[in-house]
Amino acid sequence: MAHKVTVVHSFEAGHRLPHVDGKCVSLHGHSWSVAVTVSAPKLGPEVTVVEFGALKVGLRRWIDGHLDHATMLGACDRLVEPLVAEGSRVLRFGAERPEDVAEQLACGLPWPTVEAVAVLLGRVAESVMAGLPRADGARVEQVLVRETRLNTAVYEPTVPR
Ligand SMILES: [Zn+2]
Repeated sequence: MAHKVTVVHSFEAGHRLPHVDGKCVSLHGHSWSVAVTVSAPKLGPEVTVVEFGALKVGLRRWIDGHLDHATMLGACDRLVEPLVAEGSRVLRFGAERPEDVAEQLACGLPWPTVEAVAVLLGRVAESVMAGLPRADGARVEQVLVRETRLNTAVYEPTVPR
């Protein structure tokens, strides 16, 4: 038996994938939507999986602060420099020398694919959860990221043993 809660949010952001053939080589944007599901085998003392409101606020604050109206690029993408120079918000994926905590969470993910965005948001959710009252064994079970009505990625972190 498991209990699950899901938090949903959305953001507007651009990205491009110059490492793959096709139209995603061009800089383009999406209205992304995210659903993070947290599960626990048993409810905690507050009869919750996690403090729901605080999880929602933490996730939304992070997304609004780092991803909304940003451009997500691979750290080696040649568009990083001109966009930063123009004052655009850029989140670099796979940066060897991350400049902030957001880029640290995007380490090891060389390109901002929808799959990589799901992993990033799973890491964000774990870091938000770490500071909240929660049931024993509560963990991020699934992150669903939708970049278009047709394209969705699901990330399910492996259960720590
Ligand atoms: Zn895209």
